[in-house]
Amino acid sequence: MTALIRADLDQLAPYVPGRNVPGAIKLASNEVAAGPLPSVREKLAAAGAEINRYPDSGAGALTERLARRFGVETSQVALGCGSVSLCQQLVQVTCTAQAEVVFPWRSFEAYPTQIHVVGATRVPVPLTADHRLDLDAMLAAITPATRLVFVCTPNNPTGTALTGAELRGFIDAAPRDVLIIIDEAYREFVDDPEVHDGVAVTTEAWARGHGNVAVLRTFSKAYGLAGLRVGYCIAPEPVTEALRKVFVPFSVNSLAQTAAIASLDAEDELMQRCKAIVAERYRVRDELLGMGYQVPPTQANFVWLPLGERTQAFNEHCMDHRVIVRAFVTGGDGDGARVTIGDPHENDAFLAAARTFQH
Ligand SMILES: *Cc1c(COP(=O)(O)O)cnc(C)c1O
Repeated sequence: MTALIRADLDQLAPYVPGRNVPGAIKLASNEVAAGPLPSVREKLAAAGAEINRYPDSGAGALTERLARRFGVETSQVALGCGSVSLCQQLVQVTCTAQAEVVFPWRSFEAYPTQIHVVGATRVPVPLTADHRLDLDAMLAAITPATRLVFVCTPNNPTGTALTGAELRGFIDAAPRDVLIIIDEAYREFVDDPEVHDGVAVTTEAWARGHGNVAVLRTFSKAYGLAGLRVGYCIAPEPVTEALRKVFVPFSVNSLAQTAAIASLDAEDELMQRCKAIVAERYRVRDELLGMGYQVPPTQANFVWLPLGERTQAFNEHCMDHRVIVRAFVTGGDGDGARVTIGDPHENDAFLAAARTFQH
């Protein structure tokens, strides 16, 4: 006899992280290839002396720092154990089993699972033919039961981003009792001036009376702290208050808090790194286009190859060349491979593999 587990969880597959193969080049998880900055490491080493103590559960210093950085109140900032944890908290605070959640698909893999776990209904909205969020279709998918909408921009895994005008239009057209989450995990890699900062779009929306908009950001990608797990949500106070209620106490650990503050201290240096990644992104995409691949314009630190039924073969071909990419395969039209922009030599190894694939 084994313990009874919710039968409906049978249909859920566990989250599949990017593979780690010793000696191989990992371009599967959108991490930054460069290691932590010396200044961040130093502060981490010092903080290591205090890990016998519980962390500051409210993460006061980091919260204040972020509030100042973005020109919002501390009460409008909520921290989480990675922004993936905040996604889960957002579902928890808005949804019961009667609720519906609208999200683009393909997009961040965690959304559908987290929605299912609370018993809510998943309403995935297919991307457009050019791999962008279909905002008109997402608006049309909102019903009186909708409580939450995820808007991922730049979208993981396709890299496409919404313009400020598109985002504003969506916010203005959506019902004001539906929480709109702008998931901007890759914001720091954006260089298209038409793609406005989501925090600015959000605070402007608040000023226009839309208290139903919030932004999610993370230290995992551009700030290079994926291993420490810290993300944040900038939201109206009723939302952050609810997020704090379902927050697992102490789940943003003390090293994560220290490293996040140290990374904000070193923000200029880190943003210089992002610029180098963006330059590589253009080089990699141009080379792929030159090889005849279809690659949607990307504003993130990865490229998307909509290879359809050739995706699995591409995945194995790259693996044979000791390059790990992220293949999304369900046997449908939307299948493809996402490839993180790494160091130039890593990107060269990937491009060499791509060059010899019969696509
Ligand atoms: C990586 C990612 C996150 C989660 O990052 P954390 O490491 O949990 O902070 C959230 N949303 C999207 C779209 C992502 O790609």
